[in-house]
Amino acid sequence: MPNPDPGADPPPAPWACVDSHAHLSMPAFAEDLPAVLDRARAAGITEILSASTSLEDASRNVEIASTLSPVTVWAAVGFHAHQANLWRDGDEQRLEDLLAGDRVVAVGETGLDYHYNFSPRDQQREIFARQVRLAARLRLPIIVHCRNAAADVAAILEAEGGREAGGVLHCFTEDEPFARRCLDLGFYISFSGIVTFPRAGALKEVARSVREDRLLVETDSPYLAPEPHRGRRNEPANAAVVLAALADLRGTDPASLAASVRANFRRFIKR
Ligand SMILES: [Zn+2]
Ligand SMILES: [Zn+2]
Repeated sequence: MPNPDPGADPPPAPWACVDSHAHLSMPAFAEDLPAVLDRARAAGITEILSASTSLEDASRNVEIASTLSPVTVWAAVGFHAHQANLWRDGDEQRLEDLLAGDRVVAVGETGLDYHYNFSPRDQQREIFARQVRLAARLRLPIIVHCRNAAADVAAILEAEGGREAGGVLHCFTEDEPFARRCLDLGFYISFSGIVTFPRAGALKEVARSVREDRLLVETDSPYLAPEPHRGRRNEPANAAVVLAALADLRGTDPASLAASVRANFRRFIKR
């Protein structure tokens, strides 16, 4: 059910920022997406990458990305770890067809989630590896979800062409050695509102350590609203809140960090 509370009213940022990962196709946004995009624009968000979790979801994201909007919306299409058990023969071709779309810039999201285990782990690994190979073949970046599965995610990226594809570890929650292994593959590291949570001390350390030319910020909305909006529906306007928190953690000026993140985002999507 969509939350009637509009969720976010962050102070308008004097700088432009991007939301490198949101789920605009989710039912939580079905009622008021135009207003959500207007608020993103007002908060200084210029671009949003809307990630998919299934083929059905992907078609909706492709449609949203090709609809006129006050913010540039890009789509990514892929199979989430949670949905790996829905993979059917022919889906790789269907993904490839969607990836040919004008506004489609990445494969994802995909990856491994050993916290929820909604799909069997061997199936998650197989569907993730297939999508890494597909991204490498098409030279498209891949959006990787990793929850309690760092060793297997790194091994699959290294073995199946992660370096050729490039991509991002989205909503990063793992440790610094894993971040370094991903950076060594040329990947970006994207931080969400979790960096604003009081108990995320270890993650804040990782967020301080990642080199500036590989940093991205995201909301992962409608999930994971940052402080002080925690518990409400999240939305892309809050990418400005995440950026400001990250700048604070790193002791840098938010405007210059936002400029770096915008440049990183364009290199990441290869546009
Ligand atoms: Zn994810
Ligand atoms: Zn996501």
